[in-house]
Amino acid sequence: MLTGLQIAIIGGDARQLEVIRKLADLDAKISLIGFEQLDFAYSGVVKEKFKDVNFAEMDCVILPITGTNSEGKVELIFSNEEVILTEDVLSETPDYFTIYSGISNSYLDTLAKKTNKRLVKLFERDDVAIYNSIPTVEGTIMMAIQHTEFTIHGSTVMVLGLGRVGMSLARVFDHLGANVKVGARKSEHLARITEMGLTPFHLDQIDQEVKDIDICINTIPHLIVNASVIQKMPTHTLILDIASKPGGTDFRYAEKRGIKALLAPSLPGIVAPKSAGKILGNVLAQLIEEDVLKRKE
Ligand code: NAP
Repeated sequence: MLTGLQIAIIGGDARQLEVIRKLADLDAKISLIGFEQLDFAYSGVVKEKFKDVNFAEMDCVILPITGTNSEGKVELIFSNEEVILTEDVLSETPDYFTIYSGISNSYLDTLAKKTNKRLVKLFERDDVAIYNSIPTVEGTIMMAIQHTEFTIHGSTVMVLGLGRVGMSLARVFDHLGANVKVGARKSEHLARITEMGLTPFHLDQIDQEVKDIDICINTIPHLIVNASVIQKMPTHTLILDIASKPGGTDFRYAEKRGIKALLAPSLPGIVAPKSAGKILGNVLAQLIEEDVLKRKE
């Protein structure tokens, strides 16, 4: 239980509603910032303006998946308020104060370091990333269906990267009947792709491998689907780039060549906010409980 704990939740999309429910059920006191346009009433949960929050009494803050932008601004979907997380705000908080965010950037990393606060990046955890790959794959299938005139079954699908999302994508598209080839750079990844019964190729060979594909799904957050690669793809190829912004595709060149290329961020929040929110809510509840126990030791 989280009885007696004060948690600030700032911004975020529909996923955050499940997080709020989970933490409120565990008896935490929650200050919601950036939710005033949302009709949401829950016992133990109060909506507040950022300037009115007493951060000296807070145990932790939960930021949206994206954390802050490079100037510290927190994205608020359900509010017109402007929230900037600054050194002044964090310096009011107790020593044990923890910042929970999906991902981070240099602004947030530096801020946490300067103010000596613990920063937990939820999406760096394998458990969160693997659970989250489930709605991500479903969202990718939805986009593949929406943006092609052919079935996934029988088409040639290239998956780039065999990380936590790439592995789930490769397996599910294989199960849907696609001919799946997966590009990676580590020999253990190439071995795993072979073991999965899929076609492996080294990323050095990508120029040759794209010549017969129907769909290219990129999970590598670096420019990998560059102009030279796009130039060799069949013109009907659909590129779905699910790597974090700005993705790994030369979108300008794809457009020039008439190849449909889509950056597809936040798929779990779009296709399954409830399930994706539950994943985050469960992990956050566990982490916050562990943190409280550690403090009592
Ligand atoms: P991950 O487990 O870290 O996998 C990343 C993959 O990219 C690994 O196979 C890694 O290979 C490869 N890679 C990284 N840098 C590379 C480079 N310079 N050259 C070649 N390969 C490289 O990450 P993940 O959890 O699968 O997530 C993948 C991406 O999807 C991330 O950007 C994540 O933010 C994003 N994502 C998006 C959504 C969405 O809704 N759009 C949802 C979830 C995740 P090595 O092991 O060889 O480095």
